[in-house]
Amino acid sequence: MGTRFRRAAWLMKIEDLSQTDLLHLIERYYAGDKVSNLIKAFGLDLKPNQFVAALPPEELDQCCRHCGNTLFRSRSSRSYSLVTKPPHCPVCGHYELGGTGRCTCPACKEERSQIERAKINSVSEAISSYLREQVRPPRDYATLDIRQKVFLAALLRAAGDETCTFIDRVDQSTSKQPIAPTEEYIREMLLELWNCGAIYVSDESEVEAFGVEQHADGLRVKGVYIFKTCWNVCVTGATVIEMMRPRQIEPDADALSFWIDMSVSEALAYLNNERARVGLDAPSGEKTTAIIRMIVEKYSTAEAVFFIWVTLRDVVYARESKRLNRVHAANCIPVYLSSKFEKYMSEGWEPKSYNRFGAQSLASDILYNNVLGLRGDGFTKRPSLEALGRTDKVLPPPNE
Ligand SMILES: [Zn+2]
Ligand SMILES: [Zn+2]
Repeated sequence: MGTRFRRAAWLMKIEDLSQTDLLHLIERYYAGDKVSNLIKAFGLDLKPNQFVAALPPEELDQCCRHCGNTLFRSRSSRSYSLVTKPPHCPVCGHYELGGTGRCTCPACKEERSQIERAKINSVSEAISSYLREQVRPPRDYATLDIRQKVFLAALLRAAGDETCTFIDRVDQSTSKQPIAPTEEYIREMLLELWNCGAIYVSDESEVEAFGVEQHADGLRVKGVYIFKTCWNVCVTGATVIEMMRPRQIEPDADALSFWIDMSVSEALAYLNNERARVGLDAPSGEKTTAIIRMIVEKYSTAEAVFFIWVTLRDVVYARESKRLNRVHAANCIPVYLSSKFEKYMSEGWEPKSYNRFGAQSLASDILYNNVLGLRGDGFTKRPSLEALGRTDKVLPPPNE
């Protein structure tokens, strides 16, 4: 009641002051006059802590970039005079924030979503144009070599659709049976089929499958993440059954080298698995792979597994007894492996033959069972042309 009476009697609002008085008031405020004195002198209906907020904003010589109206700036308290308030448009609500500021006026929001839409458009345009370049004429199934046929069969069995025209993204972790012994081998399979034109990147692939890069003329796909990609199968001249079960082949040098490659990969899978178990899980490098290849050219996978087993046993023993650190112990693996191999070779010792560990992969299954007709021998026999040749069914002698 009392406030209302006093105000009605003689107190004024700031906006009631004349332009001259107002300028004078502002000038005195920033010159340092006490606020309570100013309120009294100008007869204002304000408490000192309301004073700055009540000052009318400063009109700027600057226009709103959205609606063209004059921008204003709220007055800062003189104690914070270094912190200037941002220019503000009273008509559309825009704040000129500059730098990384995010104005939330409707026009700025729309501007940002337009930029976002344009960005998405150009990513999808980049992907579309990449996909258009991918399309190619189909490969005749008969012209694929045996590796390509086995790789295709394994991928179709693991992730193919009913018609064998599409391969879903290859996810080793969710498939019941491993596709190939190692992830590296699966990568090789996909690249081989892609390079030979039997599969190409499908437009069913998610955006995350594509690596997009900024170029002077816009965005471009620089490549795909092979394990996030879906594939179209681009092969003619074979039925679904034929593609899933490639036929047996002549035991030639190609067949032998395929066998050896698969053995290397299976032995590596065993090594990597066991390394992880004994805490030496740095990935096996090229040197170790080369030694395993040397072993597998002389011995069976089952025997290679024996060499790996005794190597790891000795490395773990050395690590404990000589207190080797992890890196040093891991570096011993190829050294010990090759010396074991050379010792057995030079002494003519017979290594033990180990059983298959873990589930057989699809690729190995198709190669050994369908294509080479080796079955379990693929794992237990030493790869040779002779071993391949002898796998043909031998008729029992006539007198038996
Ligand atoms: Zn505006
Ligand atoms: Zn704005």
